[in-house]
Amino acid sequence: MNTPAIKSYDFHCHIDLYPSPTEIIIECEKRAAFVLAVTTTPEAWPQNKRWMQDKKFVRPALGFHPGLASNKKHEVSLFDSYIKETSYVGEVGLDGSKELNSSWGDQSYIFNHILQTCQREGGKILSIHSRKAAAHVIDALKNNSDAGIFILHWFSGSKKDLERAIDIGCWFSIGPKMAMSKKGTELISLMPKDRILTETDAPFASFNNRDVMPWDVSFVEKKLADIWNISLSETHAIFSKNFTNLINKLK
Ligand code: MN
Repeated sequence: MNTPAIKSYDFHCHIDLYPSPTEIIIECEKRAAFVLAVTTTPEAWPQNKRWMQDKKFVRPALGFHPGLASNKKHEVSLFDSYIKETSYVGEVGLDGSKELNSSWGDQSYIFNHILQTCQREGGKILSIHSRKAAAHVIDALKNNSDAGIFILHWFSGSKKDLERAIDIGCWFSIGPKMAMSKKGTELISLMPKDRILTETDAPFASFNNRDVMPWDVSFVEKKLADIWNISLSETHAIFSKNFTNLINKLK
């Protein structure tokens, strides 16, 4: 990929959940804004792939959101049939929130199945959800350590969870809300600088009373520059270097 031209990096964005995805894609291409466009169900893959084919800066990822585990369990075979079409997988993972208690069994079944599929295929980059389930997610990743490169999106586990995640080689993508919170800031300061990327999780995460767009990652860069106590241009250089290193691992 021709990386030097990229202006911003959003490694976790739900482009297909905006009211007009194709307009967002055109705008990203115009702005040279890289986006990993995660999806929430295997059924969404063909459409996303069509929208983003031949695009320079927007890449679709094949996903299965833990929040949809019970309703969409039957799509697990679809996931397997599409896996060869992509190097990017996400959003996948586990969610230990109370509201999703009853789907925990299905969530675990699907996440483990996906990790095994990725392990069999090899060479994938995964964007992973771990809300209130960090320890379980890390256990599953440890058991399937050849499933690919793991990027924990919006990580909110304990410091001990973080230590374990770092030990097994995980990367982290940081969005505006995480960078704004006290706990998020504390966790960020403990993460290896060479394994951090920016994200928005848009359109879910509104920010400063307006919708977040995929190119709105400069706020995160500013916060990280503060946390690391370095300049904004040095911070931006770290992200572009990290991005290039990560993408080069796919080859
Ligand atoms: Mn998400």
